[in-house]
Amino acid sequence: MSFSCIRFSKICFLLSVIFCAVLLLLLPKFQGNLRPRSYPLPHPPSVINASNKSEVQLQQAESSSIENLSDETNNIVSFVKEELIQEWSPHVTDIGRSNQKVNSKMHDNLFNPWYNGVEDHVGSAKVSVKEKLELKDIFIAVKTTRKYHKTRLNLLFQTWISKAQGQTFIFTDWEDRELRHRAGDHMINTNCSAVHTRQALCCKMSVEYDKFLESGQKWFCHVDDDNYVNLQNLLRLLSAFSHSQDVYVGRPSLDHPIEAVDHVRNDGSTTVKFWFATGGAGFCISRGLALKMSPWASLGSFISTAERIRLPDDCTIGYIIEGLLEVKLLHSPLFHSHLENLQRLRGEAVLEQVTLSYGGPENKHNVVSVGEMFSVQQDPTRFKSVHCRLYPDTAWCPTEPVK
Ligand code: UDP
Ligand code: MN
Repeated sequence: MSFSCIRFSKICFLLSVIFCAVLLLLLPKFQGNLRPRSYPLPHPPSVINASNKSEVQLQQAESSSIENLSDETNNIVSFVKEELIQEWSPHVTDIGRSNQKVNSKMHDNLFNPWYNGVEDHVGSAKVSVKEKLELKDIFIAVKTTRKYHKTRLNLLFQTWISKAQGQTFIFTDWEDRELRHRAGDHMINTNCSAVHTRQALCCKMSVEYDKFLESGQKWFCHVDDDNYVNLQNLLRLLSAFSHSQDVYVGRPSLDHPIEAVDHVRNDGSTTVKFWFATGGAGFCISRGLALKMSPWASLGSFISTAERIRLPDDCTIGYIIEGLLEVKLLHSPLFHSHLENLQRLRGEAVLEQVTLSYGGPENKHNVVSVGEMFSVQQDPTRFKSVHCRLYPDTAWCPTEPVK
């Protein structure tokens, strides 16, 4: 009896040892599943081969945190990326991190719009709708400055802003009584300095970002004050995504990614490459992604991130999104700045784009052509003609195009 009792307790002991061993072996697997998503610390590397729109700056590298990205974060992000790219592939030129020439590819796409509803440019699109979106879901930030309130901004108020007053916010650097009267609390005086420096532009972007987070809206879109926004096309573009996905969509101005040096502790360095959407063509970011940018972008940290890499506002956005969060820019040929040849955009194709722009006084022929409704003197930017083609019932629109 006592013998079998001893044997029984020995078997029990052995079983519990085996059980513990199995438990120990399985533990890392469970931990892996339970571990929360982690993000890299706001410690960006600096750039050695960066670009301020077209010029390349060489800078010294300082530190790195790319290695802090956990595998898990990478996996989740790349899963979303792949899903988005597959879904969106007919509509964007995603060339990822390859060395292919963006510009030639994008130019090929210029006349290959993402839907065929030419006659029905503000009607139904042949693109899948992921999320039913309304204009009120979009926060449109227009960056401007004191000297452009009367000229550039008035044209925008007269045209596309008149159709999107509720969701358009003007970010400027001067308390203009007339503009305040017109825009009310949709005019935001950033108190940033009224100069065209990297710091002043980053200061404005930082306020734009904070105001967007505060707004609770689903999409953040940034444009310059020399952009025309085709609201219906913008809505259609964004409704192909979910605002809780990681989406960064716009047009690069370069045909290659920026290359940055990432100093890994004290022993050598690695480079980081990232694309950015040029601010002059406008770009959009989903709320889901904007929230993830917060450690490097909110409450003034955007300015220190930009300062650290010494890059302009639009590059800094790309750096945070592609460089740190490892979310790829969706390259879209539907956004346009005056850095490209806008004369190539003609006829109905003009009405199928998301944003347009026009050349400055030194390049005033760089405009789109779209069955002009006004003479060049009356409408040098062609924005009035575009607006009248899109909204022919507008009181000031002529009924016939000019001969
Ligand atoms: N801008 C600004 N402060 C300035 C000059 C320009 O905020 O001192 C804004 C301007 O209103 C526009 C954007 O920066 O929204 C780009 O300016 P611009 O079109 O003159 O230059 P470019 O497109 O050639 O960079
Ligand atoms: Mn411009």
